[in-house]
Amino acid sequence: MPLDTALRARASRVIPGGLWGHLNAARLPEGYPQFFARAEGCRLWDADGREFIDFMCSWGPIVLGHRHPVVEEAARAQAARGDCLNGPAPVLVELAELLVATIPHAEWCLLAKNGTDATTSCVTVARAETRRRKILVARGAYHGAVPWCSPSIAGVTEEDRAHLIPFDYNDAASLEAAAGCAGADLAGIIVSAFRHDMGVALELPDPAFARAARAAADAAGAALILDDVRAGFRLDLGGSWETVGVRPDLAAYSKAIANGHALAAVTGAERFRDAATRVFTTGSFWCTAVPMAAAVATLTELRRLDGPARMRAMGERLRAGLDRLAARHGLAIRNSGPPAMPLMQFADDPGARLGEAFCAAALRAGAYFHPRHNMFLSCAHGEAEIDAALEAADAGFAAVARLG
Ligand code: PMP
Repeated sequence: MPLDTALRARASRVIPGGLWGHLNAARLPEGYPQFFARAEGCRLWDADGREFIDFMCSWGPIVLGHRHPVVEEAARAQAARGDCLNGPAPVLVELAELLVATIPHAEWCLLAKNGTDATTSCVTVARAETRRRKILVARGAYHGAVPWCSPSIAGVTEEDRAHLIPFDYNDAASLEAAAGCAGADLAGIIVSAFRHDMGVALELPDPAFARAARAAADAAGAALILDDVRAGFRLDLGGSWETVGVRPDLAAYSKAIANGHALAAVTGAERFRDAATRVFTTGSFWCTAVPMAAAVATLTELRRLDGPARMRAMGERLRAGLDRLAARHGLAIRNSGPPAMPLMQFADDPGARLGEAFCAAALRAGAYFHPRHNMFLSCAHGEAEIDAALEAADAGFAAVARLG
């Protein structure tokens, strides 16, 4: 019996559903492994030793490549001195200075562990500063896994979401109408870096929409909050809305910040410093030093390599190759999203049946893609790896063509 199968059977007895959340392989196409043994660069190996070129990068955190030597050396050096101490190590200040120097809107930062910590802190700081309650949130956007924002309503009360007002991403009129509903009680507007709702084509932010969000926040004296948890440091080191020329008041980061080490950050403008001082924000592991050392190394390395440009170029190579192969197989596809965080879907494939067949066959041929969620490139993906993955994609297209 494959080790993955045996582990799943054991897990199902002691872990509800076999695994919590989005990493449950039951949500993935046929043949996808649940357990992984190791990873290196842009490759990973499952528990049964199958090797894949990785296009999920741990769902975002791996931005330089798995087990990046510079990052791991910095982490090891810090670990040798200590990780979980009675307070932070000096590297906290070094990292905070680096974030403030790298991100134009940032005058200060707070650190935490998960993206949800960061988005929730942004909302709390916005409310503390404005002494108001309403938060505008785009329909279908993902901002984390606690009651105010979880995609599931299990265990959530109406009161948890009482002060949220929905709008449609990239629709300035709907955002302005939502701001009108909030009136003098508007505390903040939270926006994703781009529209990355699961299962639908990705949409880059329309610059006019981004400017309208900035104007609506300014007109009301509310905070514009950028949820850059997923895209931060992959598209632009200064924040993902630098690409549309709009700066937030508060931003949430996590995922790529420390190349796989557990860390999140909130960055903020001067006006929100006092509120960030008054809000009580902490956690048992929020001051661990190893992830901070890893983050300094990650951000320094990303800047040295011009990581975003490199990932964009490789994403464009992947996209062009997918287009070419799909055309050769007579299949209609749609690529969407930023090249470094792409999604490929088949035309007329609402349940992603074709997408699943493509991914299952590509997986057997050695590439780990995703049919519904945006994928992630890393700086470890070079031309040779993209071309090898395209060979696996060719097998995926052949399987879809056979379905007829
Ligand atoms: N916001 C966005 C845009 C995300 O993609 C995620 C994680 N997928 C989160 C918030 C929550 O981050 P975490 O899972 O680290 O709590």
